[in-house]
Amino acid sequence: MVYVCEKCKFVFERQGEVSNCPDCGSGHIRPADEAERQSYIAGKQQAKK
Ligand SMILES: [Zn+2]
Repeated sequence: MVYVCEKCKFVFERQGEVSNCPDCGSGHIRPADEAERQSYIAGKQQAKK
């Protein structure tokens, strides 16, 4: 599952429930939408190179 922080726009991946952003600690997180998920995956693949 990919999540987005509403406060700092940090995108991260976690298994199971998440209650706080790992970057800023905000509780305002939500599941990423399809476009955000795709760009997260694309960025991850680029980082591997
Ligand atoms: Zn955050």
